Amino acid sequence: MEIIAIANQKGGVGKTTTAVNLTASLADKRQHVLLIDLDPQGNATTGTGLHKNELELTIADVLLDGVSLQEAIVKSPAGFDVIAANRELAGMDITLMGQTNSHELLKSALSDLVAEQANQQSQPYDYIILDCAPSLNLLTVNALVATDGVIIPMQCEYYALEGLADLSQTIERLTELNPKLHIRGVVRTLFDARNTLANDVSQELDAHFGDIMYRTHIPRNVRLAEAPAHGIPVLAYERWSKGARAYQKLADEVIEQSN
Ligand code: ATP
Ligand code: MG
Repeated sequence: MEIIAIANQKGGVGKTTTAVNLTASLADKRQHVLLIDLDPQGNATTGTGLHKNELELTIADVLLDGVSLQEAIVKSPAGFDVIAANRELAGMDITLMGQTNSHELLKSALSDLVAEQANQQSQPYDYIILDCAPSLNLLTVNALVATDGVIIPMQCEYYALEGLADLSQTIERLTELNPKLHIRGVVRTLFDARNTLANDVSQELDAHFGDIMYRTHIPRNVRLAEAPAHGIPVLAYERWSKGARAYQKLADEVIEQSN
């Protein structure tokens, strides 16, 4: 089992789009996958067809009330397992302030899940994907403490290089809490091949961070933006769209890394 956090402090760079569509593509390749929404915005939850305000149990019940992950798993209409999130998750920083183990709540919930699955001899997950919020709050720290690898979605714009340098530093600092933490890869999102600046920045990224850059570029593709409105991953919305094919290629690269 591998845990992968999709993180970038910057907002709107395609984290949730990547989390949902990478999960769907991995599931399509017969991987057993669980998607955990760690953002009070609940975009990954809605994006997989769940109604975020009509759920019995969410990640908030797991992190704040000690409910087990196993109990909170919902089968999404998209066909894979999801731990949902909604506004109840907001304010977690304040609720847990002063609690000594507050940064490793997710980590311990995940090890309980693994133990429970082994106990019940149920099929273990191949991948657990964590969709993080655009900030370095306690929730994101929980994700980075629980995970080994981080996938960073990044837009090829002027400040991308600085942003990536900052993020690497943050991750480096957090290795104090989680020695195994590392950048699994950086994926270029919302990529427009006709844009000269995007191409220049993309080349710079290859030059400076070549060994952690995924080969797959996720293009700016309207189908990727439309699919969440229907509560389905792009694969179920338009399988042959450029966006769907790009996320399938990314899933191939992720699986390749595991082998
Ligand atoms: P936040 O920081 O708020 O969590 P995010 O990093 O999760 O945002 P997304 O929600 O995935 O970013 O994407 C932001 C917006 O851009 C959404 O409306 C999404 O549908 C759209 N979008 C993301 N990727 C693409 C793409 N490759 N092509 C077209 N639209 C995209
Ligand atoms: Mg998001």
